[in-house]
Amino acid sequence: MSDKKLGKEPQENQALINRKEFIKKTALAMAGAVVLLSTDKAGAQAGRSKKWGMVIDLQRCILCRSCTIACKQENKTPPGMLYNPVLEEETGEYPKVGRRWFPRPCNHCDKPACLEACPEKAVKKRDDGIVYIDRDICKGVQACVASCPYGVPVYDEGAQYHDGKGAWSETASPELGLMAKPGALVWKGKSRKCTFCLHKQDESGNYVNLPACAKTCMGKAIRFGDLNDPNGELQTLLKTRKYMRRKVEEGTEPNVYYLI
Ligand code: SF4
Ligand code: SF4
Repeated sequence: MSDKKLGKEPQENQALINRKEFIKKTALAMAGAVVLLSTDKAGAQAGRSKKWGMVIDLQRCILCRSCTIACKQENKTPPGMLYNPVLEEETGEYPKVGRRWFPRPCNHCDKPACLEACPEKAVKKRDDGIVYIDRDICKGVQACVASCPYGVPVYDEGAQYHDGKGAWSETASPELGLMAKPGALVWKGKSRKCTFCLHKQDESGNYVNLPACAKTCMGKAIRFGDLNDPNGELQTLLKTRKYMRRKVEEGTEPNVYYLI
């Protein structure tokens, strides 16, 4: 289906991506690979031609919030911190009103506002598209928190579910395996966010297991994969269904698409 046929989505400045533009950008991105941190070596090298993204089918989401809980459990986030909340909003105008809801992981934007805003250059974007905060560099300035149009990064004040003792506090979040020095068990004083469960990648940059939210979703609403694969599941869905992205007017080029 061409973008022209999709029409405007109420209340959202639509994701009506020009497909030619997408292909052109993809080709440019593939041609101009950026060299990343040594900590990203495996993913950056092997994932050079990939761009990980999500397509979330709003017609399949039943607002069970299992994605939110699975993410929280996976990443051992502290009290009050959600990497992937499900946002609710009203649509239409009286008398034709409705409700819809959006699982909201990080969009791993092509032009991340968080990355541009960070004075410490702690926010990094890998060749495979994943945007992450380098905990070893982050000084807790929170510019990423303030700049993200989607409200994704969160500041870790060090709150815990207990007194800081016991097995939980001694077990590192899987995020730390790839993005921080061994032994750094907490993110206190740093900003954090969804990493597309980067720790589930193998050394060749492929996912051995789906991100926790996608794996858990009982309605199979969250589809995760390579947006650069023209024959992959994500592009097939985008070719055959109407879709949108959130807040495209912000110019961040988000890589989470919503089927409507
Ligand atoms: Fe950065 Fe926000 Fe985009 Fe995620 S959604 S990459 S935190 S600007
Ligand atoms: Fe959470 Fe992983 Fe899903 Fe990101 S990809 S929202 S970290 S479960």
